[in-house]
Amino acid sequence: MYAQVIIDANHAEVDRVFDYRVPAQWEEEVCVGLRVMVPFGQRNTKREGYVIALTETTEVPAGKIKEIVEILDEGRPILTPSILELAKWMKKEYFCTLNQCLQAVMPAGIRTKSVWYAELTGQTAELSEKEQQMADVLIEQGGAVPLRELEQIFGNRTEYILRCLQEKKVVRLHQKTTRSTYKKEKRYVSLTENEELLIAAKEKAEKDKRLAGQLRVLSAICPGESISVEELKEKATVTDSPIHTLLQKGILVEQRRQEKRDVFQLEDYTPTQPFYPTPEQAQALTLLREEEEKEQKRPVLLHGVTGSGKTEIYMQLIEHVIMAGKQAIVLVPEISLTPQIMERFISRFGKRVSVTHSRLSLGERLDQWRKARDGEISIIIGPRSALFMPFSNLGVIVMDECHESSYISDVTPKYHTREVARKLSELTGALLVMGSATPDIDSYHRAVTGEFLLLQLKERTKGSTLPEVFVTDMRKELEDGNRSAFGLPLQQAIRENLEKGQQTMLFLNRRGYSTFVSCRKCGEALTCPSCNVSYTYHASDKALVCHYCGKEVPVPKTCPSCGSHYIRYFGTGTQKIEEETRRLFPEASVLRMDADTTTGKNGHARILELFGKGKADILIGTQMIAKGHDFPNVTLVGILAADLSLNLGTYQAAETCFQLITQAAGRAGRGELAGRVFIQTYQPENHAIRMAAAQDYEGFYQEEILLRQAMEYPPFSHIFSVLITGEMEQEVILAAQRLGAYMNHYAERAGCTVVGPAPAPLPKFRGEFRWQIFAKGTDADRLKAFVLYTVEQTKKDVSREIRFHLAFLA
Ligand code: ADP
Ligand code: ZN
Ligand code: ZN
Repeated sequence: MYAQVIIDANHAEVDRVFDYRVPAQWEEEVCVGLRVMVPFGQRNTKREGYVIALTETTEVPAGKIKEIVEILDEGRPILTPSILELAKWMKKEYFCTLNQCLQAVMPAGIRTKSVWYAELTGQTAELSEKEQQMADVLIEQGGAVPLRELEQIFGNRTEYILRCLQEKKVVRLHQKTTRSTYKKEKRYVSLTENEELLIAAKEKAEKDKRLAGQLRVLSAICPGESISVEELKEKATVTDSPIHTLLQKGILVEQRRQEKRDVFQLEDYTPTQPFYPTPEQAQALTLLREEEEKEQKRPVLLHGVTGSGKTEIYMQLIEHVIMAGKQAIVLVPEISLTPQIMERFISRFGKRVSVTHSRLSLGERLDQWRKARDGEISIIIGPRSALFMPFSNLGVIVMDECHESSYISDVTPKYHTREVARKLSELTGALLVMGSATPDIDSYHRAVTGEFLLLQLKERTKGSTLPEVFVTDMRKELEDGNRSAFGLPLQQAIRENLEKGQQTMLFLNRRGYSTFVSCRKCGEALTCPSCNVSYTYHASDKALVCHYCGKEVPVPKTCPSCGSHYIRYFGTGTQKIEEETRRLFPEASVLRMDADTTTGKNGHARILELFGKGKADILIGTQMIAKGHDFPNVTLVGILAADLSLNLGTYQAAETCFQLITQAAGRAGRGELAGRVFIQTYQPENHAIRMAAAQDYEGFYQEEILLRQAMEYPPFSHIFSVLITGEMEQEVILAAQRLGAYMNHYAERAGCTVVGPAPAPLPKFRGEFRWQIFAKGTDADRLKAFVLYTVEQTKKDVSREIRFHLAFLA
């Protein structure tokens, strides 16, 4: 028997698949998905690999075939058949290697780590400047340096310089491997089954006073019992020493048991019963169960206003599914993985549920993975990576807040969780349920056109009304001489709230890095006429840049639409808002939550807990605080600069703005008390602001979809982006232009349109310059082929140090 093994490559950009013979003693054990060690290369270095297929024959000549040398994970496969299939599909879909996909679907930290070192082996006089620099680094650091560290110094050029140095025989690369198992083991002991030995030992210990400790140990253990070493030490009041001696003599026998750590204490939770469903919930549940029983299931979009009882629906559906012996995955955006949502699931499902998230240690996360594999839990809650839990009979995948951008992976493979979840549901027959109060336009369009099953919840369960929403026109405030970030109506409302002892949340709808320029008099943001997206202000050259088509214009002195001089660039930080809040409301206690104040393991949770306990009157934050929290005493929400998200410079800006306002507004009046929301904006007539204020998703969708159609943005086209990066600005620009030229040359034939090239929204990052180019088209496959082809052509013409990052956006 032969196994096709994919070798875990350090440079995961290449897939290496090889045949290995399966030694006779492992024929029973070796299976698809198993992790193995194999000899590799001329020197037969041991490498980790994954069995991806088994065959009876091989084309490798008998004399050349190598054998598997070790099987890992106690012979249990690390990839279930469906997850392996999923990884293969991701490879095709996201233009990357199977290795990169396997890394995404495997539990974090499980791989055999190997660190590559560059080692100095000789000297030669003829080195280029860069080569000499690298050689100097190696000499300074004692002759050998991990490749990682060299990459930090030499960036993208590391590989190239190293190759030159290797050719000149100045440097060689070598590898050290370590395997972390992250297992928590507990030692247990029991009495030997050899009666004679045991009796002899007891008799001896009874006679000799110095062996009193041993005697206590032997009488503390019942025959056939297995007791943990800690417990035994306590019971027999002994130190390690007598136990150690008895173990050595074989009178005690040791077992090591693997412990799977729990990530919560069940005692901390009060069990809850399912609610009697409201009529809307009952109807949705009936349809969900019907869909679940079908052979061919459609993905479901559950569109329900905040507080309409979506989470309760997930829980009742899951109860139904696990009763049938199946399992459930509940995905939540990392940011909203709050203690509150965990509490609701744990209180309902107890030990049948577990949680995984990035604040757990690798070992703890791996233990939850093992629990899923061993059938010890039926439900897992976690961020997008929880999708890859090794359940044997998956019944349902829930994707809560499915519009969230954290569902798009920011590392290769750059997958959209919705698409991968959909594929997994196809492979496993599980039902996919996506829930949101503000679905992305694309998903909603698919639901409206019947590709998804659309279920709607229009009422809040507790009969509590949605909060009252007021829009403050900041242009008027300015006319009236108010230059503060707080309009007068909001100031007034905050004072009232302080008097009543109720809490206030203030949002700055900031996202991304861009600053835009707008007129404070008429509210107009300066916009690229051909792309209909806001220009981004570049402080360094005082220019406005469109990040789609690359058009660059100077900042005008007066507003092109009203002629006023109040042209300002926008961009207020939470810190500035905090200062102003303290100045305006000196009597209030204020908490601020943003990236600066939430560093550390539990920074985020700590601030929320303080606020939840009523330790502060006002909480200021970015969209971070808008998600999933339920603070009953919050009756006022202020959205300070709604325009920040409205002018993001992307075609989804209006959608993002609508979502952020709605999420933020959803925080007000969650309890018994009615809520109020103030939206401050310079563009009150914008449809995203108007419809968000009216809390009318449907209305927003109707207007937005027309704009998308007019501009041929998704869902009426597909968009592909290519990000071009490199250390030398001129080379990057040249490569971007070269790609642009190729694309334009073939565009018409391929039925695609090219937008750009333009500097990326983050034009310089980690020492690299970044440009981007977009291609639009209605046929996704043709579009992909077009981009792949033109990028390959371009690569031939440009410096090897230039990198092209391809992403299918929508
Ligand atoms: P969503 O997930 O849509 O925001 P939730 O599931 O959190 O809504 O429900 C909002 C609140 O209503 C929660 O406090 C929840 O416990 C409660 N709730 C949900 N369903 C019911 C019901 N059928 N009867 C009474 N209360 C309910
Ligand atoms: Zn103006
Ligand atoms: Zn443009």
